Amino acid sequence: MQTAKIKTEHFDIAVIGGGAAGMLAAICASEGGKKVALIEKNNSLGKKLLLTGNGRCNLTQANFSKSDFIGKLGKNGRFLFSALAAFGPHETMDFFEDLGIRLKTEKDGRVFPASNKARDVLDVLEKALKRNKVKIMLGRNVIGLEMKDGKIDYINVVETQLIASPHCNASLRKEKIQAANFILSTGGKSYPATGSTGDGYSWLAAIGHTLVSTAPALVPVRTKETWVKDLQGISLADAGIYLVRNNRRINLGIGEIIFTHFGISGPAIINASKFIGEHLGDDKVFLELDLLPALDISELEKKFKTDLDRHKKKDLKNYLGEYFPQKLAEKIMELAGIEKDRKIHSVTRAERTDLIRLMKNLRLTVASLLDFNQAMVTRGGASLKEVDPQTMRSKIVKNLFLAGEVLDLDGPTGGYNLQIAWTTGHASGQSAAENFDKHPE
Ligand SMILES: Cc1cc2nc3c(=O)[nH]c(=O)nc-3n(C[C@H](O)[C@H](O)[C@H](O)COP(=O)(O)OP(=O)(O)OC[C@H]3O[C@@H](n4cnc5c(N)ncnc54)[C@H](O)[C@@H]3O)c2cc1C
Repeated sequence: MQTAKIKTEHFDIAVIGGGAAGMLAAICASEGGKKVALIEKNNSLGKKLLLTGNGRCNLTQANFSKSDFIGKLGKNGRFLFSALAAFGPHETMDFFEDLGIRLKTEKDGRVFPASNKARDVLDVLEKALKRNKVKIMLGRNVIGLEMKDGKIDYINVVETQLIASPHCNASLRKEKIQAANFILSTGGKSYPATGSTGDGYSWLAAIGHTLVSTAPALVPVRTKETWVKDLQGISLADAGIYLVRNNRRINLGIGEIIFTHFGISGPAIINASKFIGEHLGDDKVFLELDLLPALDISELEKKFKTDLDRHKKKDLKNYLGEYFPQKLAEKIMELAGIEKDRKIHSVTRAERTDLIRLMKNLRLTVASLLDFNQAMVTRGGASLKEVDPQTMRSKIVKNLFLAGEVLDLDGPTGGYNLQIAWTTGHASGQSAAENFDKHPE
């Protein structure tokens, strides 16, 4: 039987992974006319980008200085100092506006396209890739790297079935892609249905890179209490969140929470999830929700007593409904063991104390964080010690650059994670092109 010859294509720079980081890297790498390929396993680019910001794409964060921005990324943030100085939130906004998209800045510095459409962000990126004549190779699953003399020689690619024609055996067709420099931007492991299945990690480990163990980050919390499902969809714009472990109560801040069928979510919980994850162990861990953080307990007790004395004939559930969505008000009564139809005048002192306790310290037992299927980002990844912070070049393999979530970098919600992708995409693309000029072989 004759074996088909494997086709080899040659490029100056090959970018593996067509997400936010890979697209920006390919645009920057091709600005000076380099022959660049962008290789993506899906049959379209930016599948995850389209989901960002609930389809609106919170593409960066405008409210902070660069040093504040770095502080928000935790201990690894300092790695980005020089790359952010070259291409930070303001340069990113200029970049997108120059590509023809109007932006708007919302509450807390979150920047969105004025159209509220992530699709528009993807469209301008695709236009820029075409303008720079980047070869966009869709439906190509990279399955491994081949090394020669300490450098990546080529990558092995298999055409995925998604774009295979029913008339040919393209689903099994193999290719080699050879390039002087490679940019690895395969993302993390979160939302694997978008193509981010952590493929880059095993290749990096095989060529000698250290991996910081990965975990889901920016993720909702599953609780042991199943009654939360009765409140599914109910949100509170401002709730105080505390973590309780071994009788220690830690303040995790105030923000929006949403009850779900499995537990609790919303921006404030998602941002707190990194901290919650770090505290999960053998001991029981609780969340305590302060549903009325603007009032301290003594103020609430006073107000409550005066109000109850004043409106004796009112239904308790209607009175509580002035503070909370009705379903939540009724749940608080149920948890306090108070029947739905009770009038205010029948509430005992003990019951009043109980209601206040539930409003100020609604306790939920953390069962687990949700997994990578629901996590917005991946914590951990390629160790930053082995990557040059200015160029994103690997310190282990000379012709390899890394960009985006594959790196051990992650931030809170609010545009930080896409900014990491743009900043590292920019640095890696520019330096891969410069490296090619210096070492074209
Ligand atoms: C639901 C959701 C909402 C979000 N909202 C926001 C937001 O509003 N603002 C914000 O800042 N961040 C947001 N994020 C996080 C942000 O989307 C990511 O941090 C960012 O997309 C990471 O970009 P990346 O290019 O590094 O990786 P990805 O976007 O994951 O791209 C990696 C690409 O590589 C491809 N790939 C992987 N393996 C291979 C292979 N073997 N061969 C070929 N191609 C491969 C994948 O198919 C994928 O297209 C959100 C995340 C999620 C899941």
